[in-house]
Amino acid sequence: MRILVTNDDGIYSPGIAALAQVASRLGEVRVVAPDVEMSSASASITASRPVTYKRTRVPALDGIEAYRVNGTPGDCVMLGTTLWENVELVLSGVNIGSNLGNAIWHSGTLAGAKQAALLGLRGIAFSVPATDREEPRFDVLRPWAATVLGMLLEVPDLPLVNVNFPAVPPRGTAWTRQSVRHYDGRTVPAKDPMGRTHYWFTVVPVESTEEGTDRWAIEQGYVSMTPLTLDLTEHRALERVRKLGSWQKLKFA
Ligand code: MN
Repeated sequence: MRILVTNDDGIYSPGIAALAQVASRLGEVRVVAPDVEMSSASASITASRPVTYKRTRVPALDGIEAYRVNGTPGDCVMLGTTLWENVELVLSGVNIGSNLGNAIWHSGTLAGAKQAALLGLRGIAFSVPATDREEPRFDVLRPWAATVLGMLLEVPDLPLVNVNFPAVPPRGTAWTRQSVRHYDGRTVPAKDPMGRTHYWFTVVPVESTEEGTDRWAIEQGYVSMTPLTLDLTEHRALERVRKLGSWQKLKFA
């Protein structure tokens, strides 16, 4: 099996090395990732300029073939699956920073996996909470990543999955749904050295979590696994509005 590994933290992140090492036990692996950090780039594709790649030697990748791209995670998956044929699985991460709830909309890590699903391939995104003091314990997480990957690949018809590890060594795994009730994004003003106002987009902790969601699982110390769909249609609303009748039948007095 050919496995493409990407991320949004950039090709030199320790997270991508951990994921590529795990993947290399399951198949033939190539790393195609952004040359600089692209966190929160979402599913953007670079359309206003051409994109190029360079072969890269990353010591932490232990000889795994790697290419850095001057583009987004979405670009990396487009380019990687075009230049390397018959890729079946795209793994994205391990992102240093959780991708829970609304972050699924902004995340470049998720975007790598979503782009795979858009191309009809399997995509799986992995994230771990960021810590202030030190790097996440990838030595502890690697066996868990291998276990989760093994589990997910056993399940048919699961084209897109968002996996989040807890901060502490996991106590197990949980199937979860995306938590969307609380939005944790904030716009925070600050001053530059010339006294002008600028803004940071940041996140604040959410007040409460609902059982069964991705946030809840992480709080409880589980590895959260959320199956996702590309179809954004609100099917219940569609059913409701279709009952209103077609455009032609609407009356405008
Ligand atoms: Mn990131």
